[in-house]
Amino acid sequence: MNFACDHMLGTLAKWLRFLGHDVVYPGPLKDDELKAIAEREGRTLLTRDRELSGRAAGSLYIASDDLDEQLVQVLRQFQLPGDLSMTRCSLCNTPLRQVLKADVRGSVPDGVFERQEEFWRCDACGRFYWQGTHWNNMGARMQQIRAKAGSPPE
Ligand SMILES: [Zn+2]
Repeated sequence: MNFACDHMLGTLAKWLRFLGHDVVYPGPLKDDELKAIAEREGRTLLTRDRELSGRAAGSLYIASDDLDEQLVQVLRQFQLPGDLSMTRCSLCNTPLRQVLKADVRGSVPDGVFERQEEFWRCDACGRFYWQGTHWNNMGARMQQIRAKAGSPPE
């Protein structure tokens, strides 16, 4: 899906990108500017601001400050599968490109280079990605979040 996150939701924005969604996170903006970006770009606005949400058609008011609960709410609301996907840069939202292992030598830590076979690169910010410990930990966390999202609301 395509989302726009308000300034309170930077961590949620990163995680939604790790789930393969197209998420803009514009930083501090006036409410109406954020609403305009969402409308212009056809994005679902996610916001911690109940008043703003009430004015923005199709937006979702994010009820909790807790990341896990935020993800549960979004997965439930939009019936999303919540599987990790190496498709977007978590920092800048640019689609990732898979690169050959031989091409990342020297660009990633030696230990990572030895252990990993698959690598991705963000051509916009230059960041490299691989499915290391951090990725596996995120996968385990998403498994719990999916389980919570799949259970009927209390
Ligand atoms: Zn990037």
